[in-house]
Amino acid sequence: MPLEFRGVVDEMLQTPNRPSGATPPPIRLSQNEMPWTPSAPIVAAMTAAVETSHRYPDYHRAAARAAIAGALGVDQDRVAVDNGSGSLLHGLARLVCEPGVHGVYPVPSFEAYKAALGLAGADATAVSLAEDGAMDLAAMAAAIRPETRIVYLCNPNNPTGGLIPVEGLREFLRSVPENVIVVLDEAYREFVTDEPVEAALPLLDEFDNLVILRTLSKSHGLAGIRAGYAAASERIAEALRRTSVGFALNGIAEAALIAAFSPEGIAIAEERVATIVAERARMVRALDEAGVAVLPSQSNFLFLPGDAGALMARFAEQGVLARPFPNAGGARVTVGLPAENDAVLAALL
Ligand code: PMP
Repeated sequence: MPLEFRGVVDEMLQTPNRPSGATPPPIRLSQNEMPWTPSAPIVAAMTAAVETSHRYPDYHRAAARAAIAGALGVDQDRVAVDNGSGSLLHGLARLVCEPGVHGVYPVPSFEAYKAALGLAGADATAVSLAEDGAMDLAAMAAAIRPETRIVYLCNPNNPTGGLIPVEGLREFLRSVPENVIVVLDEAYREFVTDEPVEAALPLLDEFDNLVILRTLSKSHGLAGIRAGYAAASERIAEALRRTSVGFALNGIAEAALIAAFSPEGIAIAEERVATIVAERARMVRALDEAGVAVLPSQSNFLFLPGDAGALMARFAEQGVLARPFPNAGGARVTVGLPAENDAVLAALL
């Protein structure tokens, strides 16, 4: 008997794979990474952790959770950590999904929501963004059925960069049944300037079914280290911790996370985020002045509506690797160092 995969796996194998990273173009702006190497306190903490890496990390991740809890102002029993927020969003699907269960996710948005639901065995409904590129919360609420147990929101949305204001989120959460987990993916929250970074956190006290996901991959510039965290009700946070793949957040990544949440680590990250936000504004101004279409962004990337292939070709001429989104009708480019952003502008102006 030949080996057969599940349909959801076959479907994933039939979609185009990521391009090889073997010969990257000089300017890599396709994955929303930060352009700087990890800061000195983080490197020092990781180096020290290497010395004790013959031991398993603390199973309960008490120090990491305390560091996050302190920074967010929530109890550490309401925090779970894992090797990236990607792992947490899969873990959340596993908590509630099985055949017959249904989930809802936005498109275009982060592709992992569909994969998480499918691999967890759920049926899923994709809900298109509204005409203006904002998440269509009314349509998402309308897609909820009696079998729905989980809904993913991305705020700001990747790849379009728009923000759902906190009042919109509150109204949406009021309309969602209590037995539906609402995953609020805030991977890019630290780059938001339209409202305070912490604006959505009070919602955790109002809604026990809300989970906020964040990551060290973006604002803290640690994409290759793999660390992310969730804040939720105690019940959901404990379920996430106790069902995760044991020790997936390795000890070196955990040390990096703790250092990232030290006062020095936070100060360095904030300064770097401010630089990216200022560059974002500079680029949008230049594009607006030249009449080049760009979506308003509250994130560390810009979405350029247009023919994805033509945009990619223009970027390539300047040595820039961006990311095409043919289905969303455009291309996404990460905001990088000033000189890298100049190359992006040279491609577009
Ligand atoms: N959510 C969103 C919206 C993302 O864009 C990404 C990374 N591209 C992730 C989650 C996953 O981040 P990580 O697993 O690196 O924490």
